[in-house]
Amino acid sequence: MCQSCHVPAVSTYRTADRRQRRDRGHREGAAGLTTNAPHAAQAAQSVTLPASLDEAVAALAAMPAAVPVAGGTDLMAAVNAGLLRPAALVGLGRINEIRGWQYQDGHALLGAGLTHARMGRPDFAALIPALAAAARAAGPPQIRNAGTLGGNIASAAPTGDALPVLAALEAELIIVGPGGQREIPVSHLLAGREMLSPGELIGFVRVPLLHAPQVFLKATGRTGPGRAVASVGLVLDPARRGVRIAVGAVAPMPLRPLEAEQWVASLIDWDGERMLAPEALEAFGEYVGAACVPDQGDPVPAGVLHLRRTVAVLARRALGRALTS
Ligand SMILES: Cc1cc2nc3c(=O)[nH]c(=O)nc-3n(C[C@H](O)[C@H](O)[C@H](O)COP(=O)(O)OP(=O)(O)OC[C@H]3O[C@@H](n4cnc5c(N)ncnc54)[C@H](O)[C@@H]3O)c2cc1C
Repeated sequence: MCQSCHVPAVSTYRTADRRQRRDRGHREGAAGLTTNAPHAAQAAQSVTLPASLDEAVAALAAMPAAVPVAGGTDLMAAVNAGLLRPAALVGLGRINEIRGWQYQDGHALLGAGLTHARMGRPDFAALIPALAAAARAAGPPQIRNAGTLGGNIASAAPTGDALPVLAALEAELIIVGPGGQREIPVSHLLAGREMLSPGELIGFVRVPLLHAPQVFLKATGRTGPGRAVASVGLVLDPARRGVRIAVGAVAPMPLRPLEAEQWVASLIDWDGERMLAPEALEAFGEYVGAACVPDQGDPVPAGVLHLRRTVAVLARRALGRALTS
C-alpha cells in the first residue's frame, strides 16, 4: 500500500510522439482498453501510464488538469457523448497493486482496479457473495471485463450495482493523494458528505468479512443485462445481530432503511434457527419499500407505487434467501 509519495519516472506519451502514442494506444488503450483507445488518444493531450499508486498520485499532482481513467467504460462514454474533453489522462490499468485483494484483520482489502469480471469469479464469490453477484449483474461482458470497482464508486451513478452492497457492508474507502492516505466510509462519499479532493484516488476498499449469508438482487426494465430500476444489497451480521440492507437506484445514493433493519433484526432468533414467518418477510418488504420510496403527491402516481412494490419484493426475497442460505 502507498505509505509515502515520491516523484517517479512515469511513462508519458506526448502529442509530439504521435506514432508511439498511436501504436501503444491501439494496442492497449489509455486504461488497458482496446475498443476505446482511439477516442482516448483524441480526447487527451497526454496519456500517462503509472505503474504504482504513488506514481499515479505524483502524475496527477504534476498535471492538475489530468483525469484518472481505469476501465474507461463510464469516462469514455462521457467523452464520446461530448460531455467531457480531458486535457490529459492518467491511466490506472497498469497498477498491479490495486488489481487484486488481500486479507487484513478480518477484512478484505480490495484493490480499486478489480474488474467486475474478476469479482464475479467463484473464489471472490466465496469471500463476498453479494459483491460478486453485483459484479456479475453489471452490464454486458465487455463492460464487466473493463469496468472496475473504483470506477463504479467514483462515478457514483445511482444505478451502480456495487454501491448498495458496499453500503450494506459498511465498507470503507482508502483514499490516496498528495497529502498521504485517509479513510472514509463509502456512504460518506456516495452521500457527498466527503468528496475526493483534486489529485486523490480511491486506492482500496476495505470490506468486513462477515462469514454469513448476503444477497444482491436487481430489477431491470427489460430482460438481459440492463441498468437497475431498483436493487438491494442485504447482509446478515450475526456477530452484531444485525440485518443491513441498502436500496440502490431509487435515489441519488443507496438508502439504508435503518428502522426496518432494527425491527426485523429483533424478530430473528440469532442463536437458533434464523427463520421468519412469511408474514414477517412480507412486512419487512413493505417497511423497506415505504421507507425508500415515500409518497409523492396525492394521489400517489402509479409509477411510484410500482417502484415501491418492486423494492418491497426485492427486500422480501433478499431477506428470505439470506435466512434460508
Ligand atoms: C453499456 C454500459 C452498461 C453498463 N451497465 C452497468 C450496470 O449494469 N451496472 C453498473 O453498475 N454499471 C454499469 N455501467 C457503468 C460502468 O461500467 C461502471 O460504473 C464501471 O464500474 C466504471 O468503472 P471504470 O473502471 O470503467 O471507470 P472509468 O470509466 O475509468 O472512470 C469512471 C470515473 O471514475 C474515476 N475513477 C476511476 N477509477 C478511479 C479511482 N481509482 N479513484 C478515483 N477516481 C477514479 C474516473 O476519473 C471517472 O471520473 C455500464 C456502462 C456502460 C457503458
